[in-house]
Order: sequence, then C-alpha cells, then structure tokens
Amino acid sequence: MAAKETLVMKFGGTSVGSADALVKAAQIVKDARAEYSRVVVITSAMSGVTNLLLDSASRAANGSVESLPAAESTLREKHFSAADSLIKDESLRESTKREIDSLIRALVDLCKAIAVLGEASPRAMDAVASLGERMSVRLLEAVIASAVIKSKAIESTAFIITNAHYQNAHPDFKITTEKTRAVLNPLLDEGIVVVTTGFIGATPEGGITTLGRGGSDYSAAIIGSVLPANDVWIWTDVDGVMTTDPRIVPSARTLPEITYSEIAELAYYGAKVLHPKTIRPVVDAGIGLRICNTFNPSHPGTRLIANTPFDSKARNGPQIVKAVTAIRSQRLITIEGRGMLGVPGVAARAFGAVASTKTSVPLITQASSEQSICFAVPSEAAEQVINALQNVFADEIKDEDIDRVWMTEDVSIITVVGVGMRHTPGVSGLVFTQLGDSDINIFAIAQGSSEVSISMVVDAADTESAVKALHGLIVASSKV
Ligand code: ADP
Ligand code: ASP
Ligand code: MG
Repeated sequence: MAAKETLVMKFGGTSVGSADALVKAAQIVKDARAEYSRVVVITSAMSGVTNLLLDSASRAANGSVESLPAAESTLREKHFSAADSLIKDESLRESTKREIDSLIRALVDLCKAIAVLGEASPRAMDAVASLGERMSVRLLEAVIASAVIKSKAIESTAFIITNAHYQNAHPDFKITTEKTRAVLNPLLDEGIVVVTTGFIGATPEGGITTLGRGGSDYSAAIIGSVLPANDVWIWTDVDGVMTTDPRIVPSARTLPEITYSEIAELAYYGAKVLHPKTIRPVVDAGIGLRICNTFNPSHPGTRLIANTPFDSKARNGPQIVKAVTAIRSQRLITIEGRGMLGVPGVAARAFGAVASTKTSVPLITQASSEQSICFAVPSEAAEQVINALQNVFADEIKDEDIDRVWMTEDVSIITVVGVGMRHTPGVSGLVFTQLGDSDINIFAIAQGSSEVSISMVVDAADTESAVKALHGLIVASSKV
C-alpha cells in the first residue's frame, strides 16, 4: 500500500516536447505511482504547438491560409515521430496517430471557416488553442501505457466547468468539484493513472474554453484542490523557482523554499515558471506544491511554504531580496493636469475607463501632489486605454483641468521580491543605487502593499541590464 494518497503532476510543454522528454515524463509517472496510490497527470501541449495553432488562426482571420499545409506537417511530424519511436504496440500507435490526425484536420477546418468569416471570435480562438493539449494528452497517455502503467486519457472539458469568458475562463468551483470527483475518483480508486489536458475547460453548454496562456499550471491547482490531492508537482524545464530567469542570468540559483506571498508576487510580476492563478487554490486547500525539473528529476526543486515569521537574525541573509523578475512590453500611461487637484473621483473614473477595455493594470503610482496618475498596461492594450480615457475625461480635457493623457514607448516592470524587505529599512535605497550605478533610469516605482516586493519601471532596452544589476544584489547579500 502506497504511503501517500493523491498526487497531481503537471508536465509543461518542453517536458512533453520530444520523444526524449516523453520517456522521462513516463518514468517520472512510474516512480510517482510507486509512492502515491492515486495519480493524476496533466499535460500541456508539446512545446511550440499552442503558438503555432494561434498563429494559424490569426493568419486565417486575416484571410491567409497559405501557411496551413506547413503547420499541418509540423504538427504531424512533431507528434508522429514521438509516437513512432515510443509506442511499440502497433494498434495503439495507429489509433493514437489517427486521433491526433483528426485533430489536425479539425485545425484546418476551423482555420478555413475563420478565413471565410474574416474574423476569429474568442470562442473560435479557444477551439483552435485547445487542440494542442487534446493532441498531447493522447500521445502522453499512449507513452505511459507503453511503459506498462494502467492509464486513461480524459479531456478536462468533461469536468472543469467554466464561465463563457473565452481565452481567460474562470472555473465554477462547485460544479467542477462535483464533476471532477465523479469522473476521476472511480478510475483513481482502481489504481488507474488519469492523464488529462491542462489549459482547457468547457462551459456548461459544452463550448471549449481556455484558462489563459500558460494555464496548465492553473489546471493542476484546480484539479489538486477539488479532489483534493495531498500534493501538486509542477514539472518544468528548470530546477524550480530560481533567483531570476536563468535565460537572463545563467548563474541564477534555485530557491529551495519560497513563501506563498513571495511566489505570488514573482508569478504576478512575470516569472513564467508558475502561472499566477496557481497559488490561491493550492494555498486555500493546504496542498503541498513543488516545482521540479523533468530533465533533472533527482533535484528537489522548489517547495512552497507557508508565510513564516521573519527571522530578524537573518537580516543580512539572502532572504532580504530573494528574487528578481521582469514583465516586458508594457506602456506607462499618465493622466496629468493641475485641475485634478483634490477633485474626488478622478482615479475611480480613470480606472473605470481602463476596466471597460478589459485591461488589467499591473502597477499604479500617484504623485502626492495629486496632479497626475500614472499606471502601466500591456502595450497591446495601450492605444485602446488611451482612447477610453480621452472619452471619459472629454469635458475635463476641453476645460483644461486635465492637460494631457499620454503614454511612453515600451517599458518593462522589474520587481525585486523577498519577505525580509518588510522588516529591513533601506532596501529601496540599495535597489535604486544598484540601478543608478548601472546608469539605468527609473521611470516609476511602486511597492506592493504586502511590502514583499518593490517594482520599478525602466526603458525596454534596459530590461536585461536591470535584472542583471539587481540579481547582483542577491548574490552580494547572500555573501554577507
Ligand atoms: P512550462 O512549459 O514547463 O510551463 P514555462 O516556459 O512556462 O515552462 O516556464 C519555465 C520557464 O520560466 C523557464 O524555462 C525560465 O526560462 C522561465 N523563468 C522565468 N523566471 C523564472 C524564475 N524566477 N525561476 C525559474 N524559471 C523562470
Ligand atoms: N499550452 C498552453 C500555452 O502554451 C498552456 C500551457 O502550456 O500551460 O499557453
Ligand atoms: Mg508554463
């Protein structure tokens, strides 16, 4: 009898991205099955597939279907080469390939329909985006079955029920709990490993929805919290959550432990390693979360821990600034005018206008003089936000109470994170000096209300040097 009961494991795109990776993933499932009696495996699409699908749909919306044959053959080659080398049983191999092939043909049909209409609705985009996980789930299940593990593939549309907010759907936890338990428990109780799709769900009427880009992590948290599972493990392509993105600073180190509030800030401010929505369901349900490397499975990775009281003796330790992260492709929007001084409701109207464009605002600063409000929005939404602001403040602009509403070129938000910052005076000074010494100009600053993070807005061109400079601070403080 296995010592622990239920484990949910999610494999990211690179972790199922090739025959080599799939073999590693299947071995990880086998090892986990020896430790846990009930195992759910969640898969992303193979790496690059979701981008390729969405790109095909966007081109189709612009009337271009010329690239479809190339997309089809890329998808066939990617999935079939892995199937051919890993699925030994001929009938399983052929049926798996047939199912994947029919999903590839569904892509072609959807894109042709989109091209005829000349536009892709969010619902159509989700129907296209879902195909990646619907293909990979069949492949991974067959590979797991080939490793002689009793398993079954089920699409999560059968039990993750969401609202109709296509491309960023929100689960209905009540129905999802009932359905997930009803569909998965009988299989899990028989010792069958359930292999399911990340990223996707369905409306009560059966429309396929997605949970937002990178949403397979969130799927793992949803399924883990509603079963509930004892543990959720996120398998990715790096050794856990690191001091920064190792693509920017190759010497970045793994953080063996990270608190809820630190990971929340890191994920929110751009650390792609974990989708920001993953944290809350896992924390609320008191589930153990671990992030680990499919390509280095013996490495313990990062474990999420409860927010612990700060140890003041460790004041100069590495935990003051623990990690640094960046969100690129943002614009800073400023509303300014002396007529705004003391006028109630300006901020409310401004953010109401932003909300009407369905844009979320990652950072806000307000000068104490109340003569300006400044906030960041994703670059692709900036134009629309400016228009909405100009509309809502049309009278004030005419009366010159508001002088101008303007935006910068592309900027990045750089964030340093660490629970120790709350108790340590002078951290902002250190951070700003570090950037100043590297000749990096700071456009705006914000400190999270939890005081676990400080964010700075810098020019897009300074992104990497800012991250490197601030990472230097972590290295320096850990040597004290
Ligand atoms: P997956 O496909 O497994 O979900 P992602 O590409 O979404 O993987 O996330 C993993 C990537 O996140 C890493 O390859 C790394 O480049 C990037 N990353 C960004 N910030 C961090 C960080 N602080 N720690 C670890 N990885 C990070
Ligand atoms: N395949 C989806 C994406 O690329 C979801 C995920 O991988 O988490 O966004
Ligand atoms: Mg991811």
